[in-house]
Amino acid sequence: MDVRILAKPRSGWRVPPNMPDYEAARASFSWEAAERALAGLPGGRGLNMAHEAVERHCLEGRGDHPALLWRGRRGERKVFTYAELSASTSRFAHVLAGLGVQPGERVFSLMGRIPELYLTALGTLKHRAVFCPLFSAFGPEPVRARLELGEGRVLVTTSALYRKKVASLRDSLPHLRHVLLVDEGGEPGTEALHDLLARAPDTYEIGPTSPEDMALLHFTSGTTGMPKGAIHVHRAVLVHYVTGRLALDLHPEDVFWCTADPGWVMGTSYGILSPLTHGVRSVVDEADFDAERWYRLLEEERVTVWYTAPTAVRMLMKAGDELPRRFDLSALRFIASVGEPLNPEAVLWAQRVLGLPIHDTWWQTETGGIMVSNYATLAIKPGSMGRPLPGVEAAIVRRQPGGGVRVLEAPGLEGELALRSGWPSMFRGYLYDEERYHKCFAGGWYLSGDLAWKDEDGYFWFVGRSDDVIKSMGHLIGPFEVESVLLEHPAVAEAAVIGRPDFLIGEVVKAFVSLKDGYAPDEALRRELLALARTRLGAVVAPKELEFQSSLPRTRSGKILRRLLKARELGLSEGDVSTLETPT
Ligand code: AMP
Repeated sequence: MDVRILAKPRSGWRVPPNMPDYEAARASFSWEAAERALAGLPGGRGLNMAHEAVERHCLEGRGDHPALLWRGRRGERKVFTYAELSASTSRFAHVLAGLGVQPGERVFSLMGRIPELYLTALGTLKHRAVFCPLFSAFGPEPVRARLELGEGRVLVTTSALYRKKVASLRDSLPHLRHVLLVDEGGEPGTEALHDLLARAPDTYEIGPTSPEDMALLHFTSGTTGMPKGAIHVHRAVLVHYVTGRLALDLHPEDVFWCTADPGWVMGTSYGILSPLTHGVRSVVDEADFDAERWYRLLEEERVTVWYTAPTAVRMLMKAGDELPRRFDLSALRFIASVGEPLNPEAVLWAQRVLGLPIHDTWWQTETGGIMVSNYATLAIKPGSMGRPLPGVEAAIVRRQPGGGVRVLEAPGLEGELALRSGWPSMFRGYLYDEERYHKCFAGGWYLSGDLAWKDEDGYFWFVGRSDDVIKSMGHLIGPFEVESVLLEHPAVAEAAVIGRPDFLIGEVVKAFVSLKDGYAPDEALRRELLALARTRLGAVVAPKELEFQSSLPRTRSGKILRRLLKARELGLSEGDVSTLETPT
């Protein structure tokens, strides 16, 4: 699509953009200089995310400024100032200290977007423990796998989620010493968080923190094996800050709303850290997507900068053009999205109906923050992910047989999107899996696993994934995790899971199953398998569709060919089937 949306809005700039000239900013940018904008811990004791997000604003006299504007599911509204956030996160840090939690140990959260989630995240960082958010819609199996791999020492959750997803697994989690419930609860083997908080002091001196100390552990999925724990260090806050400034154009008086759940990296980097480092008001909505609710919230909170996801945008489009006209969205001045391809129609729809285009951004769990983006002052080419962040070198590369990479300089060539390694929020490892970590790098580049191409103006265009991971509603799902649960059923001989493209939610998780002798592929069994997967994995990860096949295609070495199943599903050419064991 050869449409460009000019950078300067018709109504002119409402506030001067932070980056007036992309090329000039790129040419003069240095991470050392950018770091000077961070406060650092007093007395030169290092760099701590929670200090940058909360304490510095209190020390700089902005403690009374609202930090979180929390909207409850049932219409409640609570405002937490930076000073209040400082006090409650200090209490939480003391609670951890009282429980004997050591810096570097992992504190997990499993709850919806309630205020306790935010104080858990920031209080954990203050104590120099590692924050590991879990998505509250995960079923017991993803919860168990992540707590086990991350050796969670503390879990903060609700009594309902604890009963449903953790209580029966407790014996298999020897590292999990403390479960703190945010409500009355009283479940055996748990403690009441609010009782502990009430007894804790409300100031806490953050101990010396090396910028390279582990701060966050975010789980992500690959094609094979169980989830990987991507390690992020306190220095990543520099990217949260810089991208808040350059990619999201945050100014101190902004009201910012990131719609993502902190159970996924976007909801932590941009739903907690980035906006708070800028001292802005950050909106948190506890409820799930609802078109009317969202427009009302934009109106009532006077949101100025809005960071959301393509699935949500498409659902808003589906709700019609009339609905937004009923609301006053005049405060909005910048919209951005991430997580899956943003179709050009969505960018143009927003321009027409909301009066502003959507600025696509690209990044991953491993990158810790936005790496490629459409900036306020750069013309948008709808359908493109934009250009690399100043300070980040991106390229299209091909892996070479010897282990190196070849950079494809000429525009228009498809290859893997790579980033020159060493940006501050680069993940520092996959927990306990050095081999997988090293496989992500070659010749000084981090290889993202995404296929893309670059045009003659330096814009990057997404093509697809080079592996079999699935993106459904913006959530990354590893097929292996789903297949493992299906294989637990006594009737299942083989299982393979793919993403079937879907206009609205990106991809639908679809399972192919072959049965053991003696089992009939009937409707009752199909339903039983879908129900099993839903109970064990949770609604987000579980397959929505399941098809029986007499056997699944495999390579000669025995690997199930998910790609072939996907090609057949889409009616595409089956490509090279020469490695198939039994072409069917
Ligand atoms: P996650 O690690 O869960 O954040 O998922 C990262 C993956 O989401 C990337 O590797 C891409 O495949 C996909 N993704 C993120 N942003 C975009 C985008 N702007 N366009 C297309 N795909 C995207």
